[in-house]
Amino acid sequence: MQSVTYRLDQSPVTPFQYQQDVEKYAGNIECSECEASAWFVRSSVSGGRERVACFAAHHQDGCQIKTVVLVVDDEGVEPDEGTDTTRINVDLDKRKPQEILVPEPKERQPVDSPWGVLQRKYANAADYPINKSLRQILSCLIKNPDYPEDDVSIRITTDGGRVALEGEVRKLLSHQRQLAGIELGTVRLFWGLVTNVNRKDGEVWLNCGDYRTEPSLLVRDENLEEEMLKAFRLKSLDELEGAYFLVMGWLAGSERKPIINFGFAKYIAFVKYRVKHDEEA
Ligand SMILES: [Zn+2]
Repeated sequence: MQSVTYRLDQSPVTPFQYQQDVEKYAGNIECSECEASAWFVRSSVSGGRERVACFAAHHQDGCQIKTVVLVVDDEGVEPDEGTDTTRINVDLDKRKPQEILVPEPKERQPVDSPWGVLQRKYANAADYPINKSLRQILSCLIKNPDYPEDDVSIRITTDGGRVALEGEVRKLLSHQRQLAGIELGTVRLFWGLVTNVNRKDGEVWLNCGDYRTEPSLLVRDENLEEEMLKAFRLKSLDELEGAYFLVMGWLAGSERKPIINFGFAKYIAFVKYRVKHDEEA
């Protein structure tokens, strides 16, 4: 798209205007037809061709403005480990081979983390026969935001089988727009869309819309940033603009400005997109 709508006054915005005032527009632009959240795509050069800057969005079905085709980056890297049942196990230590090679800092504990008070409880593998990754669950949510449709339970284990979260998915999972009334500090699952990335005082904010009033994921220090760059093979966290996320974390901030915190890169999954160019078959 070469034009989107600024949500606050419904005025049109071009890529040029956006770059003149990123702080004003980031997280506050949408498709002028279907009103899907949009994000800015920088100009680039690839294969000797220059790509002009534009906007992209995950358009609603039937939207006529779908000018940029998005394809999932990195799809199919994980095998599907069986059909869905009512009990899903997510083992955060079980990751793709290339990610297992990433050394993880051993000493570091999340600051002010609610994990410290968790009782050590270890999982019995037989209780939850179906293994899924956070990313597989996220892929299901993107296709069907009401996933899972019945009272499916989930158990998330980490650190050699310690149970980090267990219960009905419906009670533990919230979309970024459904955070009202959630107790601050409670560990649960959150999902949504990163529209823009901002840096301030050594922290990186993955904003899910207007940074003043909509939720942000906080990458609280360079260690976590570095860990994420390795785990998701990114050159910069800016590449997460337009990516969906699913994270096991806890809420901080306020009702007006929710902040989603998480401890380690393995607690979050992304489905990332890239713009598909015409000459790609
Ligand atoms: Zn649209």
